[in-house]
Amino acid sequence: MNKEYKDDEYEKICYLCRRPESKAGKMITMPGNICVCADCMQKTFDTVSNTDLSNFNMGAFTQMFPNNQTSKEQDKKEPTVKEGDESAITIEPKQEGTETKEEKDKKNSGMTGFPNISFLNLADFPGMGTRQKVKKRAKGEKAEPPIDFSKILPPHKIKEKLDEYVIGQEHAKKAISVAVYNHYKRIAKQQENDNVDIEKSNMLMIGPTGCGKTYLVKTLAKILDVPLAIADATSLTEAGYIGDDIESVVSKLLAAADNDVDRAEVGIIFIDEIDKLARKRNTTTRDINGEAVQQGLLKVLEGSDVEVPVGANSKNAMVPLTTVNTKNILFICGGAFPDLDEVIKQRLNKESSIGFKADLKDKYDHEDVLSKVTVEDVRNFGMIPEFIGRLPIIFTLQELDRDMMVEVLKEPKNAILKQYQKLLELDEVQLEFDEGAIEAIAEKALEKKTGARALRAVLEEYMLDIMYEIPKDDNIGKVIITREYIEKTGGPIIEMRGQSV
Ligand code: ADP
Repeated sequence: MNKEYKDDEYEKICYLCRRPESKAGKMITMPGNICVCADCMQKTFDTVSNTDLSNFNMGAFTQMFPNNQTSKEQDKKEPTVKEGDESAITIEPKQEGTETKEEKDKKNSGMTGFPNISFLNLADFPGMGTRQKVKKRAKGEKAEPPIDFSKILPPHKIKEKLDEYVIGQEHAKKAISVAVYNHYKRIAKQQENDNVDIEKSNMLMIGPTGCGKTYLVKTLAKILDVPLAIADATSLTEAGYIGDDIESVVSKLLAAADNDVDRAEVGIIFIDEIDKLARKRNTTTRDINGEAVQQGLLKVLEGSDVEVPVGANSKNAMVPLTTVNTKNILFICGGAFPDLDEVIKQRLNKESSIGFKADLKDKYDHEDVLSKVTVEDVRNFGMIPEFIGRLPIIFTLQELDRDMMVEVLKEPKNAILKQYQKLLELDEVQLEFDEGAIEAIAEKALEKKTGARALRAVLEEYMLDIMYEIPKDDNIGKVIITREYIEKTGGPIIEMRGQSV
């Protein structure tokens, strides 16, 4: 992040103890934008004044660093400590001849400063002083809500916007629009100090890979203009183990909110591949303990204060910490839940087959059983009840079929075909795909079984040659991609400028 941070909007962080201004109190700003809190400054003074330097041979240093400035020269150039803010602690450079008796005594005994040594400019170290600052919180009346709740769109408007980007998945789009709307209404209500508690609408999204789960959440965050962090459940570990823990995910969200805690606290966290945390069925292998990670997530999902590192994704001595409350963060978990359909079928068969087992066995084989999912099925899959209990909204997404793939190629606002057309347009070449070609691309992508994710890879393969050859000849005005070209039985149709067929 190379953004310039305005000093007055971000909290200062003590360079020594890493606490932000809100915790450590007023900071003293040193040359080079290094801040130190009053406690650390006092400790440093105490340490220096308690150290007996009378036997310290400064001459040795003079020989080692012959070109260094003397501390006197440095004093002249830079006032020791200065702070622009009038309320801050200011230590002005000393006037000549205003020394106290004590200082004179010290000077005589050779104990003032460290002659012939210049100190490193700590501000030269990468990342110092900007990335790790936390935005100040406005106090009292001044506090503005981090999002304008009057501007939160009603569910049908949210869905309309989602429709512009996400193909199909009607039920999921509806469910997510309503849930998000309620979520932000709930936050608005809290601010009015209403005592009816509306339950948090965390969500669980179930759908095969490449059907648009992540894309849906990304689009949603863009529409709502709230920060979003995406994490992978497989990278999460139990607290205390090496790896990411949930704090690092909240820290990501904070970074997405430009280190503004208030904005991060109303953001969205998407945890993908949540099914990988399920209790393993029928195995004896010792794996990461998914159940323990689920346990670890419980508190955060519900809402708790989390100490998160700022500007880094792990806690260590060099990283400042700040507190983020997760009460109003919307958690969306997603996963493919392979074989969940089997679990559902088993239940459905059991329910409807008491006494008629044999003839109902295949009854649900050709239906969309996934959409019949219940909390019980997810629990049977291996998620712990407390965990599912904190994700009250469960919905499913369908696997994309050929027609949907064709639409994904053509329809969304930023459809892949439109992107290629735009690219060639810059070379003043028209690019067209005939229907057969689009269908052939969709069919090839379907074979890869990674959903819409395969579309770009397939298209890239064919477009490489086109993008390479076209700029060679200025006379080319139009290229039409045909089914034959995709099936490798022919080539694209090329038209020259001024020629029309
Ligand atoms: P997953 O369900 O595995 O999270 P993604 O959301 O990451 O899948 O989908 C990968 C890509 O495929 C997206 O970036 C998007 O471009 C495209 N895509 C997937 N599903 C859809 C859809 N329903 N409508 C439009 N594009 C889609």
